[in-house]
Amino acid sequence: MASFKSFLLSEDPRQALRMKRHLAAFASIFAFSIACLYFYFNGMLVIDGLDVVGMFAIFWAGMLIFTLLIRSGLNEKFEDPSMTLPQVLWATIFLLVIIYSLNTSRAVALMCYFAIFSFGFFKLTMREFITLAAFAILGYLFIIIYIYVNEPLRIHLYVEILQLVAFSLTTIVMVYTGSAISNLRAVFRQRNKDLAEAVQLNTRLATTDDLTELYTRRYLMDMLAKQKALSERDDSDFVVIYADLDHFKHINDSYGHHTGDIVLKKFAKIVQSSIREIDYASRFGGEEFVVLLVNTDIEQAKAVAERIREGIENYNFYDLAPGLKVTVSIGMANYKQYKSVQETLMTADNRMYKAKEQGRNLIVFE
Ligand code: GH3
Ligand code: MG
Ligand code: MG
Repeated sequence: MASFKSFLLSEDPRQALRMKRHLAAFASIFAFSIACLYFYFNGMLVIDGLDVVGMFAIFWAGMLIFTLLIRSGLNEKFEDPSMTLPQVLWATIFLLVIIYSLNTSRAVALMCYFAIFSFGFFKLTMREFITLAAFAILGYLFIIIYIYVNEPLRIHLYVEILQLVAFSLTTIVMVYTGSAISNLRAVFRQRNKDLAEAVQLNTRLATTDDLTELYTRRYLMDMLAKQKALSERDDSDFVVIYADLDHFKHINDSYGHHTGDIVLKKFAKIVQSSIREIDYASRFGGEEFVVLLVNTDIEQAKAVAERIREGIENYNFYDLAPGLKVTVSIGMANYKQYKSVQETLMTADNRMYKAKEQGRNLIVFE
């Protein structure tokens, strides 16, 4: 059963849905065919048995072409890969031929038209609904005129015109409801798109610091928890670096808040360029930064911290504020020694304070 399903339906859920709807349409054509057989065996059709078989062959072959197009994926080259309008028009032609072939009770076959129309609710636009309705109404009108002119004995003109008017009015109402559903679909599509964008924005805001474009504290805490689990599994080291800019209040007071912001951005760039792709740098808050160095011990981390310390110390802010010198105090700790993220962070933070006490612009790692 599962293999038959995978034979019929594509792995791609959108293609599978198109196929399901196509198969439903195919089932309707099958039902029309049964009705047609009933008409035939009750002597209600003007065409003979061979013509009925030929008619089935043509219309079923047409549906089979749609099946092959969808299953082979060729349909995806078309503007509307669901091929709703061509399929619905094909079924409409089938119905019109049956209507022509009937001597009486044409209204019975006409009713089936609404079943075809309902497939359009999934996909068609207002213009397509109008095309479809016009095709059906004009097709029916043409059949009435054709039979009246060529085989007048087969028609009760007054009844047919009454039917045509009723059919047309009902179809127009269906165009209206169909278009309303089509608009509703467009609204939902737009809403889904907006929602997806909102989720994306939300994710970015939750993970990325606006000013420096480093990770947020929240994201870094998540990564620390993840790294802890990894580290427990393969017994690897990882180092937490806690960095706090020196006398930053003074920089703000002397050069202005805007300059302070640019210093923060520059420091973030220096941190980013001092670490590897697999490491995580975050702005923990204000002028405090925490870096997670994956698979790294203290010896290796010293080199990274030194690059950061030197990088900002030697950076010349001459175009921003001549004479401005920025330094950073750094504390760091290896997780392996503490086996707890909280304790590792606290130790790195305490060591950063030690670096401040010992005169700033320093790295403390023990
Ligand atoms: P220390 O060397 O002891 O770290 O001195 P400090 O002045 O850096 O210490 P403190 O933590 O008292 O001051 C941090 C300052 O950072 C205070 C705050 O106004 C400033 N600050 C925090 N966030 C921002 C920001 O986004 N932009 C700017 N320009 N300044 C900020
Ligand atoms: Mg601070
Ligand atoms: Mg500071």
